[in-house]
Amino acid sequence: MRLQREALKHKLREQQQQQPPRQTTGLSTSSSSTFHAAPTPPQPQPPTTWTLADFDVGRPLGKGKFGSVYLARERASGYVVALKVLFKGQLRSAKVEHQLRREVEIQSHLRHRNVLRLFGYFHDAERVYLILEYAAGGELYRELQKKAALAAAAHGTGGGSGGSGATSAGGGGLGEARAASCVRQLAEALRHCHSKHVIHRDIKPENLLVGRDGALKIADFGWSVHSRAGEGNNENGNSNGNSNSGDGDNSLHSNSSNNTTSTITTSSSRRKTLCGTLDYLPPEMVAGEAHDRGVDVWSLGVLAFELLYGVPPFEAAGHSETYRRILKVDLRFPDDEVDPSTGHTLRPATVSAEAKDLIRRLLAREPRKRLPLESVLRHPWILGNSSQRR
Ligand code: AMP
Repeated sequence: MRLQREALKHKLREQQQQQPPRQTTGLSTSSSSTFHAAPTPPQPQPPTTWTLADFDVGRPLGKGKFGSVYLARERASGYVVALKVLFKGQLRSAKVEHQLRREVEIQSHLRHRNVLRLFGYFHDAERVYLILEYAAGGELYRELQKKAALAAAAHGTGGGSGGSGATSAGGGGLGEARAASCVRQLAEALRHCHSKHVIHRDIKPENLLVGRDGALKIADFGWSVHSRAGEGNNENGNSNGNSNSGDGDNSLHSNSSNNTTSTITTSSSRRKTLCGTLDYLPPEMVAGEAHDRGVDVWSLGVLAFELLYGVPPFEAAGHSETYRRILKVDLRFPDDEVDPSTGHTLRPATVSAEAKDLIRRLLAREPRKRLPLESVLRHPWILGNSSQRR
C-alpha cells in the first residue's frame, strides 16, 4: 500500500514538476476528459493522462457551492484523494471561471505540509474535477462546533455562538494546546504562501481542513491573490501596497481610496454571499483601504481568539455593529462568568495572559504594526503550548 501511494505521489509530482504545465483555458470549451497539470503561462501541452475512468469514486465528503467533493482512489496506484467535482454551468452562471483558474494556479504551485495539495485537474463536457489531497480529519470548523456543543451541554446553555462578542465567553474553545498548535501551523503555512507572494485573504475555520495526523491544511484559495512583485516584502511581512494580483480581475480586490465604495460593496457581498461571515475581515478591508498580506496576519489573530473562546472577537448582532467593532478594534476578552446574585465565579475564563498578548499583537489596527509571522512562531505562548509534531 505504501509503495502504491509513493507511486501515485511520484506520478502526480511528475505531472507537475517534470512536464511543462499548461495554461488553463479549457474550463468551458473542450469536451474531452483530459488531465492538465498546474496551469501557468502558455506552455506546451502535457500528454493526456487523467480521466474520470482513472478513479474509483467513493462516498461524498461534503458539498460546496458549485458541486460536491468525493473520496476517490486512483485505480492504478490505489492512492486516495479527494475529488472535487464542479459544474461548468454553475461556474459560468456565477461568472467565477476566472476565479477558479486563479485558485487552481495558485494552489497547485504551493508545497507545504499545512497547505492542502492540489495535484491537478481534468474536465469533461459538464464538469471540472480537482484532484486534491484528502484531509481525513475534515473541517476545523466541525471540531470547534463539537467543542461548543459539548460546552453548551456541560453548562446547560445554548452554546458559544450567537452572543455579542466579549459578553459571550463561548466556552467552546479547543484548549490552549490545540489552539496554539493550530496557530503555529497556520503561521508556518502563511509564511510559505507569503514567501510566494500569495495572500490567502479568507482564513477562517471553515477553510481549514485537518489531515489524518491532525495537521492543519489551508484549503480553498478562491479569494487568494498573487501580490505584485516587490510588494509586501518588508521585514514585518506587511507592506503598504495594494495587493492586486495584476491579472485584470479588479472585482475581488480592495483598491486604493479612489475606489472605496466599490471595494466595500465587494468585501461585504463576498462575505454575505459566499463566506457567510464578516468576522474575519480586517479593518482596512472594512474601511475600503488598500490591503496587503497583513490581512492574513489579522485573520490569524481572529482565528486564535475563536479557537480559544469558541466565538470570534468582533461578533455582534448585526453586520453594521460587527463592522463598527472591527474598525474600532473593539477587542475585549471574555471575563469569568459570575453569578450576579452571589458574585461567585461560575465559569472561569481560562485563557492565559500569553495567549491574550499574542492576540493583541496580531489584531493591531495598522497592518504594519501586526506581529510578523516569524515572531508569531517565537512567541512564548506558541513555544510553551504548541506541540511541534502537529
Ligand atoms: P468545498 O466545496 O471546498 O467547500 O467542500 C465541501 C466540503 O467537502 C467541505 O466542507 C469539506 O467537509 C469537504 N472537503 C472538501 N475538500 C476536502 C478534502 N480535500 N478532504 C476532505 N474533505 C474535503
